[in-house]
Amino acid sequence: MRTLAPDFTGYGWAPSTAEIARLAGIDPVEVVRFDGNVAAAPLPSSRPGAIAGALARINTYAHGGYPELLDAIARYAGVGPENVVLGAGADDLILLCARAFAGPGDSVAVADEPTYPLFRIGAWLAGAEVGGDDAVLTFCCRPNNPTGALEPLPEARPLAVDEAYYEYCGETAVGLIEEGVIVIRTFSKAFGLAGARVGYAIADADTARELNKRQAPCPVSSLSAALALAALDRPPDVTPVVEERERLERALRALGLEPLPSYANFLFVPVDEPRTLGDALLRQGLAVRVFPDGIRISILDREDDDLLVEALARTLDKPSPVAAAGGRRVRRLRATAETRVAVRLALDGASRVRVATQAGLYDHFLEQLAFHAGFDLILEGSGDLETGEHHTAEDSALALGDALNAALGDRRGIARYGDAVVPMDDALARAAVDLGGRPAAELKLEHDPGLAVHVLSSLAQAARIAVHVEATGRDEHHVAEAAFKAVGRALRTAVRVESEGIPSTKGSL
Ligand code: PMP
Repeated sequence: MRTLAPDFTGYGWAPSTAEIARLAGIDPVEVVRFDGNVAAAPLPSSRPGAIAGALARINTYAHGGYPELLDAIARYAGVGPENVVLGAGADDLILLCARAFAGPGDSVAVADEPTYPLFRIGAWLAGAEVGGDDAVLTFCCRPNNPTGALEPLPEARPLAVDEAYYEYCGETAVGLIEEGVIVIRTFSKAFGLAGARVGYAIADADTARELNKRQAPCPVSSLSAALALAALDRPPDVTPVVEERERLERALRALGLEPLPSYANFLFVPVDEPRTLGDALLRQGLAVRVFPDGIRISILDREDDDLLVEALARTLDKPSPVAAAGGRRVRRLRATAETRVAVRLALDGASRVRVATQAGLYDHFLEQLAFHAGFDLILEGSGDLETGEHHTAEDSALALGDALNAALGDRRGIARYGDAVVPMDDALARAAVDLGGRPAAELKLEHDPGLAVHVLSSLAQAARIAVHVEATGRDEHHVAEAAFKAVGRALRTAVRVESEGIPSTKGSL
């Protein structure tokens, strides 16, 4: 083997989720990672149906590559398909550019240190040196990882511009591909496909042809290509991430921290003892990326980002600028061939509720239930709605039930029973619940808009609770809504912690 440069350092991975869970003494599903700069959740297009066609032909090679994907990327980037080079993530294209341009005895320049370590690694692996005069290739990262800065484009040519975070800032060097610039992008960030490993380079047609000659014959799997193609059908809107970045930046400032201005989906925060702070957060199940002079925080969403703000406040011994998250908190992820549902539930919440699965009415009903129970609930998912709402609504109820069961733990000290009467315009619902641990559902709804009874009984089954409901009225929507509200009100009483003991004369549940 050719020896590596004496100063070679390989890519350093952060601790695994399983390791962090062990360290924090929690289940891996409870670990929240702010260190990968990836999207908080997959796009709705990333689901089993998107890969079914590719899976049916998984025994074959993608003869001739992926012309449809090249066309779709070209349209998205505003170039021709002859300008596009595919790779297994942006990393693969960084390594390809390095080995295509540089070899032993050459030097490669890297702009804006600190920056993404793979530029150096690529140069070293090609046998070249980093720095020095007469660079055969210059790398730059815009926006820059880890700082988030958008520095001016270097004059040097040839120039490889890593635009992994392009979507968050909208600035691109694609207009310069006829002038010695190669742009490298990825589906790992805004498109939520980091695990799929798909990236692309954009270059003038001659350079793209030369790069393709030096690329592996088929660097992207057909499953990943199908996911990328499905995602390009409706490119993501990153506005909520940018808004959340601005909100998090304000919250960090309120803690006395000074995050650097960022054009990406992360914030770099200079701190005196980054390792100590990073370790303290790890012990609370939260991972940030640690650098010699600061920490880098990926933007997730308000609820998860606030967990980090709270943990930082605790660690820095400052008052928290955000509302405390509810107690008896759990996270759950339920994935089947039909649906994917992620649940964050806190029983001792403040009715901060968001249910978003596109299952129409049933999203609304679960929101009503959680709101009136006083829970904090974020339930997000996507399902095979083309077959109707059934799978999505049912799996949402099962996922919520599973989360409720987990949040109740050993059920010690809870009131156990609860009941409520809820009137609405023309409808009246009476509900009673028993959280003793035996699933049962006695549900008499005078009208059902379709799945109300099924959703409530799925919830009862997964949560291991008994639910009794009688609801009457003229309008089916109102009858069902009153039923969900009444179950919520009844749960509010039943989950309350009243004592230390087991709420049963048997001494066990
Ligand atoms: N470039 C930069 C600047 C990055 O931050 C990352 C991800 N950490 C990558 C490239 C790698 O992206 P991919 O997953 O597409 O290999």
